[in-house]
Amino acid sequence: METLSQRYFQVVDRIRIDCEAAGRDPNTVHLLAVSKTRSAADVCALATLGQRDFAENYLQEALDKISTCANDQLCWHFIGPIQSNKTRDIATSFSWVHSVDRAKIAQRLNDQRPTHLPPLNICIQVNIDDEDSKSGVSLLDVTALAEHIANLPRLQLRGLMAIPRADSDDNNRAAFDKLAMTLSSLRHTIAISDVDKGKVALLDTLSMGMSGDFGSAIAAGATHVRIGTALFGPRQ
Ligand SMILES: *Cc1c(COP(=O)(O)O)cnc(C)c1O
Repeated sequence: METLSQRYFQVVDRIRIDCEAAGRDPNTVHLLAVSKTRSAADVCALATLGQRDFAENYLQEALDKISTCANDQLCWHFIGPIQSNKTRDIATSFSWVHSVDRAKIAQRLNDQRPTHLPPLNICIQVNIDDEDSKSGVSLLDVTALAEHIANLPRLQLRGLMAIPRADSDDNNRAAFDKLAMTLSSLRHTIAISDVDKGKVALLDTLSMGMSGDFGSAIAAGATHVRIGTALFGPRQ
């Protein structure tokens, strides 16, 4: 059986190779280790190997690991569905939230972000294949939500996130290209509409690609790949 460290360096290597194939600098792609359902011991072990970014879907489980690991070099990303009563803890304990899909949640995260911390980095989750079962804002509503978030002082709008419907024919390439195009048009719209308001939306982030499809996400411009299974093995 492969060890965690073997799998980790294989994933790091594959990201580098995929970047080279796409003519991209490997430093422009961040590996998020999706540690949901994994132990704090596994998180600490990966941190020892040099991994810094960890992503979690369930708040309570995440808070336990954040306090157990107690390592202020680590950067925590929230990637799961968000209920209103969880926003305070999310705004306090995370640096990034990738799964914002409504204005009300954005507003609460803004209001509850502690003043001693920098603005909370936000990605809008897009329901890229328009599936009934998936969370995420529809493509038609991305601009309105982005404008709302860009004007909240305690949030820093960074970009878009999506979980495409698994399409084995093209490894989700069409969906990833669609998300990348949505980000570039958003960059244009937001830059114009917010030019007088003194707040800059960075819009430098495409959070896309998981264990099965991160190669094609990188080819389509992903800046943050969210990888669980390929790092830690199958979830129970
Ligand atoms: C679980 C999860 C992942 C990781 O999926 P793997 O297939 O295990 O790599 C990535 N993104 C989100 C939003 C997830 O919930």
